[in-house]
Amino acid sequence: MPEQSPLDLTEGDPFGPHNLPYGVFTTADEPGRRRLGVRIGDHVLDAGAAAHALGSPYAALLAQPSLNPLLAAGRTAWRDVRRALTAWVTVPAHRPDIEPLLRPLGEVTLHLPYEVADYVDFYASEHHATNVGRIFRPDGDALTPNWKHLPIGYHGRSGTVVVSGTDITRPAGQRKAPADPAPVFGPSVKLDIEAEVGFLVGTPSELGRPVPLASFRDHVFGLTLLNDWSARDIQAWEYVPLGPFLGKSFATSVSAWVTPLEALDAARVAPPARDLPLLPYLDDGSDEEPGGFDLHITVRINGETVSEPPFSTMYWTAAQQLAHMTVNGASLRTGDLYGSGTVSGPEVHQRGSLLELTWNGQEPLELSTGKRTFLEDGDEVTLTAWAPGPDGTKVGLGEVTGRITPAR
Ligand code: MN
Repeated sequence: MPEQSPLDLTEGDPFGPHNLPYGVFTTADEPGRRRLGVRIGDHVLDAGAAAHALGSPYAALLAQPSLNPLLAAGRTAWRDVRRALTAWVTVPAHRPDIEPLLRPLGEVTLHLPYEVADYVDFYASEHHATNVGRIFRPDGDALTPNWKHLPIGYHGRSGTVVVSGTDITRPAGQRKAPADPAPVFGPSVKLDIEAEVGFLVGTPSELGRPVPLASFRDHVFGLTLLNDWSARDIQAWEYVPLGPFLGKSFATSVSAWVTPLEALDAARVAPPARDLPLLPYLDDGSDEEPGGFDLHITVRINGETVSEPPFSTMYWTAAQQLAHMTVNGASLRTGDLYGSGTVSGPEVHQRGSLLELTWNGQEPLELSTGKRTFLEDGDEVTLTAWAPGPDGTKVGLGEVTGRITPAR
């Protein structure tokens, strides 16, 4: 009996040929040589070597240590490369060339697959923004007056975006509760997560020229899971009046896999109905393609599920965020990454942060590893997600994981 091929996947594998996310890997025998890989089942295909073996015109684009050249190549190239990859892993005649270029995932090291240019984070879940407003501003309106008129965001720190699996050092900083007479300095005692989705820009834009809603697919290559680690005590003291700073900038974790938007056509859904009319540059009421994505996220702490946030409930879409981010003429660069904002659904078990899940520590979670208000040293947080794919399949979005190590 012939040995089973890694390309013979179990039916319903969320990493089948309908998915094909991109990553960057090294092998133990050549730890210094980063290569572009495409995930198929529990294996990674050396994309550059495959392109070379099959005489593909995309060999130069794929034989790279980073996704950036492919990101910069634009939407037509993205489509053509995906078509080629799909053929390589599905057409039986290619198997003798492709099979030797597949490595088991367990035998490779995955790296941050792109160089992050600018990093922006939004605040697009009405449920999250309402919960945070109630916790931080109990005497005021939960939503600020601008919230339903524009997607609120801030510029974060691109240099501290790290790949899944990277340990997170507990940050130290200033904190001061309202009743405290003076600020104190020390390791954060309210270290938190934010379950988010990151959108990765491929095609740059010209300085001075806004990117309209309809051009979203021309600029955004794909999406990835993102954990916006947040020190709530540092954040609460520092954020007025200029927004998040050191409470966020110490680390942001992303999945090692980038799922191309083309794999998510079956996951597009209409966003929730808007309560207020939108200015024309944000009004997506007549757009042909629905702006939302039906992504099902799971948050685990030390292996235990604590939340299942539904991305389909996000008020602002990624296309609206892109349009807003550029409406003043700010240009896009290849490798720009923007986070959706914490994904929280209407239900308690759908909240995407511990701040909300424990109501700022007042209602601890009962885990098998003990009570949790915020994260303890040694805790490991993992986000996973899936989306509906074509013909009843599921598209796996991989995972983003990180373990908390003590402050230094
Ligand atoms: Mn965030």
